[in-house]
Amino acid sequence: MMDYFTQITTNFSMNEFFRSEEDFISSSDGVKANIVLVSAKLQLFRDYKRTPIIINSGYRSKLYNAAIGGRQRSYHLDGLASDIIYNGISNTWRQDFEELKKHFKGVIYYPKLLFFHCDLGHRNDRPYHFLNGR
Ligand SMILES: [Zn+2]
Repeated sequence: MMDYFTQITTNFSMNEFFRSEEDFISSSDGVKANIVLVSAKLQLFRDYKRTPIIINSGYRSKLYNAAIGGRQRSYHLDGLASDIIYNGISNTWRQDFEELKKHFKGVIYYPKLLFFHCDLGHRNDRPYHFLNGR
């Protein structure tokens, strides 16, 4: 049984993908299962980087996603997306971008805000990978 502090992979635990335990409790089993899938992929990247990966945004409730201006059909709502940061991202993002593309269907790098959005989206057949000017 998964609870809020369940260690999912070597370096990622459930709570890192939620803003609060209330969000964890109110999220569906499907969301939690998706987070397990995402964390497995993130672990592969963590093993490649050998540096701590901070999850800036994992699961978002509809209310929170709207409040921060997230896309209406954001994969964060399904637990299928994570925004990540780590030390040295501005130096290694080109190589890291290539590495993340091996594991995620959607990868967006935000060069000004210095984070990666990674998702296991399913709506389009084709993967999308791009830079966002923000
Ligand atoms: Zn995102």
